[in-house]
Amino acid sequence: MPKNATFSVADSTALAAKLIKMADTRGRRAPISKAMRKRIIEAHGSRCFYCGRESKPLEIEHMLPVSRGGTTTENNLVPACKACNLKKHSQTYEEWQTRRGRR
Ligand SMILES: [Zn+2]
Repeated sequence: MPKNATFSVADSTALAAKLIKMADTRGRRAPISKAMRKRIIEAHGSRCFYCGRESKPLEIEHMLPVSRGGTTTENNLVPACKACNLKKHSQTYEEWQTRRGRR
């Protein structure tokens, strides 16, 4: 190994810091803009995605919870009334549907 081919400790520390930063932003709840919120609610006819009631105010719900790897993108977001949002909690949509079907 040539003597001048060095990889300094400072470089690897900087790289590690960068990687930590990247991991840190992943999975964090990205802000939902007002326009995005409006689009999602309108796309579902201003109704709760789960019970179909025109409940107000509607909350924006992650179909696949962020804690389970879901992302804050429009195809993972649906409007939900407070009751449904509380009931669903951190279950995935499939899990919730299965549970409801069994009752
Ligand atoms: Zn509902």
